[in-house]
Amino acid sequence: MNLVLVEHADGVATDVSLQALALAEGLGGDLHALLIGQGGAQAAQGVPAAVAHVAEHDALDVFAPDAWAAIVCGLAERIGATAIVAPGSERATDAMARAAVRLGEPLAANCTAVTPGDPIALTRVRWGGSLLEEARLHAGRALLTVAPHAVAPVGPGSPGSIETFTPELAEADLVVRVRDRVAPPEGGVSLADAKVVVSGGRGVGSAEGFAAIEELASLLGGAVGCSRAVTMSGWRPHTDQVGQTGNKIAPEIYIACGVSGATQHIAGCKGAKRILAVNTDPEAPIMSVADYAVVGDLHEVLPAISAELRARGR
Ligand SMILES: Cc1cc2nc3c(=O)[nH]c(=O)nc-3n(C[C@H](O)[C@H](O)[C@H](O)COP(=O)(O)OP(=O)(O)OC[C@H]3O[C@@H](n4cnc5c(N)ncnc54)[C@H](O)[C@@H]3O)c2cc1C
Repeated sequence: MNLVLVEHADGVATDVSLQALALAEGLGGDLHALLIGQGGAQAAQGVPAAVAHVAEHDALDVFAPDAWAAIVCGLAERIGATAIVAPGSERATDAMARAAVRLGEPLAANCTAVTPGDPIALTRVRWGGSLLEEARLHAGRALLTVAPHAVAPVGPGSPGSIETFTPELAEADLVVRVRDRVAPPEGGVSLADAKVVVSGGRGVGSAEGFAAIEELASLLGGAVGCSRAVTMSGWRPHTDQVGQTGNKIAPEIYIACGVSGATQHIAGCKGAKRILAVNTDPEAPIMSVADYAVVGDLHEVLPAISAELRARGR
């Protein structure tokens, strides 16, 4: 039997957690799910697992990675899980790395496929998405995270049962925890959920140049993203960055404007269903991954698209 760490937000399991459940199904055996903190009991109702375990504790109102690791390890031990699977989100990866240290087991991060057995055979994403590694996991208890948006999620369902418990947490488990949150600007669509993302790179030229990107994103009901060259220049916050060291997203369409298409950038947007590149350079690497391209100056192309959308009543 295997245990899946299921993250949740607003009372529902996150998409990447449903993807982790799908990959864990490939290991065979019963699936147990673990949901931690406030809202877990509500989210558990939509999780297709034999048992959904919900950990509730006053200290779990905020993210505390060591507490999560303690809960994961404690529950895995109690139910005798042979593998622990988690989404490759930042929080779950943080907690799983700490769980691996506690258990003295290896952690296979960013898996995209598994074949059960001893050892488990797996495929995982390496080097920012530029390499797929075939590996064997030799472990007493297998710990895996699942590359975001690389596996189709499980369909809707409900658990066989829901079991709520209060974990025992030591003071040391709560030393690292979230102390403050900076809310994104009101009203916008989040980068993670947006169906359309309009992204700007160094070619935008300045922070002010993002007005044209913001306008198009707003007309399309989308979100704004950017490259690391942009965050390094201080034109946009790091929360907007797409790529290996930024957000990994999977919108319906990704509109990359003035972005060259470095592998570290593509690592964050290759889950997009379609990519439209706007670039002055027809030889830019982004052209080799783009489904559509406009070769031209984004400062002319974007206002023209926005004007056309307005004319059509958007
Ligand atoms: C360990 C590591 C991690 C990294 N992580 C990330 C990451 O998470 N995300 C990320 O983005 N990068 C990341 N990078 C950096 C990455 O290698 C590139 O340096 C970066 O993506 C380049 O950003 P850019 O495409 O905006 O800029 P550039 O490469 O400078 O490209 C600018 C593009 O704009 C075009 N252009 C210029 N003017 C115009 C115009 N007026 N209209 C239209 N097009 C125009 C140019 O032709 C060019 O193609 C990482 C690097 C390392 C080493």
